[in-house]
Amino acid sequence: MAADIDRVAIVGGGFSGTMLAARLAERGVASTLINRTGDFGLGVAYATPFDGHLLNVRSGRMSARADQPDHFVRWLERHHPALADPDGFAPRRVFGLYVRDRLEGVETACPGQIRRVVGDVTAIEAEGVHLADGTRLPARALVLATGNPAPRTAEAGGSLRILPDPWAPGALEAIGADDDILIVGTGLTMVDMVLRLEAGGWRGRATALSRRGLMPRAHGERPDPVLTPTETLLSAPLSRRLGEARRLARDHGWREVMEGLRPITATLWAAADLATRRRIVRHLRPYWDVHRHRLAPRVAAVMDRLVSEGRLTVVAGRVRDISADDQAVRLDWRPRQGPAQAPLTAGWLIDCTGPGHAPAADPLTGPLLASGRARLDPLKLGLDLDPAGRVLGADGRADPALFVLGPPARAAFWETIAVPDIRKRIEDVAAALA
Ligand SMILES: Cc1cc2nc3c(=O)[nH]c(=O)nc-3n(C[C@H](O)[C@H](O)[C@H](O)COP(=O)(O)OP(=O)(O)OC[C@H]3O[C@@H](n4cnc5c(N)ncnc54)[C@H](O)[C@@H]3O)c2cc1C
Repeated sequence: MAADIDRVAIVGGGFSGTMLAARLAERGVASTLINRTGDFGLGVAYATPFDGHLLNVRSGRMSARADQPDHFVRWLERHHPALADPDGFAPRRVFGLYVRDRLEGVETACPGQIRRVVGDVTAIEAEGVHLADGTRLPARALVLATGNPAPRTAEAGGSLRILPDPWAPGALEAIGADDDILIVGTGLTMVDMVLRLEAGGWRGRATALSRRGLMPRAHGERPDPVLTPTETLLSAPLSRRLGEARRLARDHGWREVMEGLRPITATLWAAADLATRRRIVRHLRPYWDVHRHRLAPRVAAVMDRLVSEGRLTVVAGRVRDISADDQAVRLDWRPRQGPAQAPLTAGWLIDCTGPGHAPAADPLTGPLLASGRARLDPLKLGLDLDPAGRVLGADGRADPALFVLGPPARAAFWETIAVPDIRKRIEDVAAALA
């Protein structure tokens, strides 16, 4: 069995960390896989016990293996035949079982290559990591696969009626069946929370607010054809690209346009100059996100029903202030357009603003930045990385033994959130480490 110092330490045992460990083991590279809890392979996305939480990517695209695109569907055929439709959207819980099964399969096939450790990594050292219980784990290289950080909850103010982290276990339990709620954020997290409440018998009303009031769009019933991007869409200045995208969407359908862009998003991001990236982040991102990260049709139908029943209202505006007492929460807001509106009040407020990426304040990456072992990308989206995912130091040199994988690698790849993107990156990191 490999000594600790010969292993690669992987911090985070969600999809990214576990599937990297599996790939490394298959290539003969031993790793120590460290996760806060014993739920290896699940992370926030696949830990949900609720079958109404469906994948937002068709099963045919959810293979954990870059070399076997139909791996997940073949697994479904064996274990959940009723769900084995490549064009369908399986429950996220079932995908979690698949990830676990793959990890366990590789552990059996490659004994001793993956060492699981349940622990909280509190510091990254020159050659290893430190855990909260004082253990030091040496390693020859390190991969940060820590996933999405919890939302930043500056406005929370500490009231029990304000739920700052909707993913925290039991976060929604206190909400009564007839209670009205306010939600800050109108994206996928908001949809998840409303679905969860609705399935639990909740009958109240929800008002969800975001700056633009945009909700995720729905997938079509069947997969959409891919529209090959035109030269203008690929390389013209950003405003002309947007005009071109609108024209193509009118003529061929917006989903077809997105299908054409999806596989080359990371390449387009890498090729974009700083000014273009800045404009994308500032102006385009909200519109990109709602068209790119879509809802399964069945989920979209539930949301449409709630809107038509008047139980879900989505408004566009900015939060000005949030206050709460023992009975209720009050949200002062300024509408995006039109005259001022009265404050919104409800029994509860759920923060669904999404991950609060703040690498400088993060206990793991903050010290790396302070010491110059890492630097932020110019837009401060995250750690600056080379094309293989190695961390760039303050001097611009890549650290050959320090990698970032998954959502925290977003500065270099823009989208490394979904499984199809992450599994590609796993291959790159595994190749670099082997
Ligand atoms: C609600 C939701 C639904 C999604 N649905 C889909 C979908 O349908 N299809 C799709 O392709 N993608 C989906 N995604 C995207 C999803 O983020 C990725 O598919 C994938 O789960 C990311 O895995 P990860 O391992 O990078 O991060 P995570 O799943 O967040 O795992 C990171 C792990 O690291 C651990 N960790 C963090 N810090 C430390 C530390 N200091 N010490 C020890 N352990 C630590 C965490 O506890 C966690 O277990 C969804 C995401 C969310 C949040």
